[in-house]
Amino acid sequence: MDKTEKLIYQYALLNAVNHKGQAHSKAVVGVIMGNHAELRKDPKKILKLSSEMVEKVNNMSLEEQKVELSKLGVQESKKEKKTQKKGLADLPRVDGEVVLRFAPNPSGPLHIGHARAACLNQEYVKHYGGKLILRVEDTDPRRVDPEAYQMIPEDLKWLKVDWQEEVIQSDRIKIYHQYAEELIGLGQAYMCTCPGDEFKTLKDRCQACPCRDQSPEENLELWKKMPEMREGEAVLRVKTDLNHKNPAIRDWVAMRIVEKEHPRIGDDFKVYPMMNFSVAVDDHLMGVTHVLRGKDHLANSEKQKYLYQHFSWKIPEFIHYGRLKMEDIALSTSQARKGIEDGVYQGWDDPRLGTIRAIARRGIMQEAIQELMLEIGVKIADSTVSWKKIYGLNRNLLEDKSNRYFAVLNPVKVEIQGLPESLKGNIERLKHPDYPDGGVRELPFDGVVYLDQEDLENNRSKVLRLMDAVNIFIGDEVTYHSASLEEARKSDARIVHWVPSSSNYQVELVMPDARISNGLIEPASHEIKVGDVVQLERVGFARLDSIKDDKLTFYYAHK
Ligand code: GLU
Repeated sequence: MDKTEKLIYQYALLNAVNHKGQAHSKAVVGVIMGNHAELRKDPKKILKLSSEMVEKVNNMSLEEQKVELSKLGVQESKKEKKTQKKGLADLPRVDGEVVLRFAPNPSGPLHIGHARAACLNQEYVKHYGGKLILRVEDTDPRRVDPEAYQMIPEDLKWLKVDWQEEVIQSDRIKIYHQYAEELIGLGQAYMCTCPGDEFKTLKDRCQACPCRDQSPEENLELWKKMPEMREGEAVLRVKTDLNHKNPAIRDWVAMRIVEKEHPRIGDDFKVYPMMNFSVAVDDHLMGVTHVLRGKDHLANSEKQKYLYQHFSWKIPEFIHYGRLKMEDIALSTSQARKGIEDGVYQGWDDPRLGTIRAIARRGIMQEAIQELMLEIGVKIADSTVSWKKIYGLNRNLLEDKSNRYFAVLNPVKVEIQGLPESLKGNIERLKHPDYPDGGVRELPFDGVVYLDQEDLENNRSKVLRLMDAVNIFIGDEVTYHSASLEEARKSDARIVHWVPSSSNYQVELVMPDARISNGLIEPASHEIKVGDVVQLERVGFARLDSIKDDKLTFYYAHK
């Protein structure tokens, strides 16, 4: 065996050992193509060698396969390798029950960035026991989307994230007021009535503003009057270090006035906590032991530590992870919202958006997202995720379980001349080539079929094989050529999918860029249920989104 043959042999063995002694040629080819760029140049050769090796390997018993593998020095199975790679770093200083929280702002549905915090928190709770709190952080009335209160739990359920406790911060405004008052009493917070720019000038020079010297009593008096003041007239500041190297941390704002009705609690309150204040108070009160957050929150963690010190609270472990950049998705929630309002996007699940619901609609499986997030983990370095990566993970999940169907986009009706009567009839094709037990689909074949316009055009004056049916010649007319696969091979025929003209449904395929392709799909597609992800042969994986008046609408996932 040469080097390539040996490599393929090894993959075939691995695949067999992982699948009860039966290797699957397609899976083997997939792994080879995925891992060995140098072999992609000659796919035909790889295909041929793979099917030979798979045949050879499948003739051995599982025991023989294992012996062969160990002879080649391969001991670990592919699966074992994968789980090792997925291992998440341990949480630091675990001492007693682990309490974690996922704390999104309800400014819209969850997006792929949220999935990281949600999945990692979930995974740690699974690992350590303890609990996960869902805390909806809605203390900025201007950044609340009322629908988000419903969308967030829905998205978490899709992500298979379980939480044991749910808290909405707007139910707790009075608690924040109490702690603000307590902090004033401790002499660690003061009411500041300086115009913002004046305070900033002083702060940038590491100087105190005149309000900083007020006594707790004076501060309390002003604090009590805060609800009667206008927005911007006063804020409550936490005393930090005026010489702190980061000016943003110097005497940060804890409470402020917001003159806007809160979409959930109305106008009961005017004095709202800033995020850092409510987050720290809640993390303490809820006994959160480890806070997982992005490194864009580094300065916030620093700010919050002052509160812990002032109140003599135990500081939780802060774990900061790097930024997650998604290729092609630069859209923030506010940009997405604007696009929806302007009618550019159809809604939060428009395939162009990076929301969880958009990704789900496109047939990306929760497991793929989870696997991705666990792989990225909590490292501080930034990560860039490509769609290709997500598609690869998803394909691995779907390849084995998605049934296959023929759908022809841009269909052209073709009547095969000279087709022997004996070849007409129902053609049976496995729903999944690797699982004969999964059953067959029936395609009535009477010599009149729909083919993809592109397949026709690219094969002028050539022989074309209609999968599982016959070989045809594309001349001025389309004529019957031969029946067998061998004949097709001899003529170097391209093998294409087709849809019977006598029985089919209309199909619409919504692409990731929202463009729509129209076509026809084979009759067995009537058994596909909304939400199923299938493989449209030679087109790609797609999720059935809706059925209306005999028309099936799919969302395209990937090749
Ligand atoms: N609600 C805040 C956010 O989503 C909380 C962040 C945190 O403390 O982890 O940005």
